[in-house]
Amino acid sequence: MSKILIIGAGGVGSVTTHKCAQIPEIFSEIVLASRTKSKCDAIAQDVLKRSGISVTTASLDADDVQETIALIKKIEPDIVVNLALPYQDLPIMDACLATEVDYLDTANYEPKDVAKFEYKWQWAYQEKFKEKGIMALLGSGFDPGVTNVFCAWAQKHKFDEIHELDIIDCNAGSHGQHFATNFNPEINIREITQRGRFWDHGDWIETDPLSWSMNYNFPEGIGEKKCYLLYHEELESLVMNLKGLKRARFWMTFSEQYLTHLRVLENVGMTRIDPVEYQGNKIVPINFLKAVLPEPASLGPLTKGRTCIGCLMKGVKDGKSKTIFIYNICSHEAAYEEVGSQAISYTTGVPAMIGAMMMLQKKWHASGVWNMEQFDPDPFMEALNKHGLPWKVMDIE
Ligand code: NDP
Repeated sequence: MSKILIIGAGGVGSVTTHKCAQIPEIFSEIVLASRTKSKCDAIAQDVLKRSGISVTTASLDADDVQETIALIKKIEPDIVVNLALPYQDLPIMDACLATEVDYLDTANYEPKDVAKFEYKWQWAYQEKFKEKGIMALLGSGFDPGVTNVFCAWAQKHKFDEIHELDIIDCNAGSHGQHFATNFNPEINIREITQRGRFWDHGDWIETDPLSWSMNYNFPEGIGEKKCYLLYHEELESLVMNLKGLKRARFWMTFSEQYLTHLRVLENVGMTRIDPVEYQGNKIVPINFLKAVLPEPASLGPLTKGRTCIGCLMKGVKDGKSKTIFIYNICSHEAAYEEVGSQAISYTTGVPAMIGAMMMLQKKWHASGVWNMEQFDPDPFMEALNKHGLPWKVMDIE
């Protein structure tokens, strides 16, 4: 029986709130707080309709540490789950330190003025969290999150050493819009337009944005799709925690239509993250772009098809070379039917709930700041099968 405070009433926050409400024996009280309280109220209403569970809502600007401290003190949650934006990671971690409450998020901290995602800012909290005897679990979404757990599970059960890792994220679904992003547009576009990076024999190799691609044949009828190399945050911790790793890369599929729109937006300056002067005011073009693009949460009823996200791993077991692909396939329509969101929010919101459950049940619990692959993957993998994200393993010849 535990009380959870979820911060952020967007696509992911909505899914996590619905999934927690499905397990009242663990999440006996749910509080959802966000900048716009009406969004929390709409989610709470839908949860009540679907699960018969009441969710308490609150307004919160999580950039304001004192405001978050006051809310935590009032609610006294057992865990704070941060599903706002990466910019809020450090202020919310500060509030958790001040109130000595455990913390979880799904994306690593990014400063607003530089599109650079690195764990260094959050890893710097290691000693402070240890001293207070509280835990922070970083990146408990799908990628990062489940992909890290897939790697830890493969290392435990399938390999003596993993030598090559390719994390491949495929959205084979379609929402019928000219251009829209499946999660927060600002964070998504910042991620995609930065330089690519992969790890090779101990060095980080940089590539021009979206300049490397490969075709991958996805299982279960999804078929061949073009995937582009990106830098993704889980690589940073996995290269430190996987034994014998020689190369680690991350790939994501994009349609030609998406890339054409993105190129035009970039070329005309609409993806800039620095302020520009407009009629006497300073505006940040990417913030304005976010305001005119469809809200990811609105794509729920429109999106059809499936996602397939998995880890392709090559390594050795008992002296023999082997390659496996561990993956989940998630249907946009089934996710919408269950919780009213498309599969991108679903595949992130479910692992956030499972991470919180692991911590509350003390299956994963230790003072300090942790990445997902540092805990025993077995209970998490079991929970994925039970709570809507079943996975499979394929031997690749
Ligand atoms: P949305 O933009 O849909 O939702 C973000 C929510 O946070 C909004 O409701 C917003 O409120 C709220 N918020 C923003 N700033 C503040 C603040 N200062 N105080 C309180 N609330 C705030 O994003 P998503 O739901 O798509 O994504 C949520 C997080 O999940 C992001 O960090 C994203 O990077 C991460 N993510 C992780 C993935 C993974 O696999 N690991 C995959 C997809 C996303 P308002 O509406 O009022 O602006």
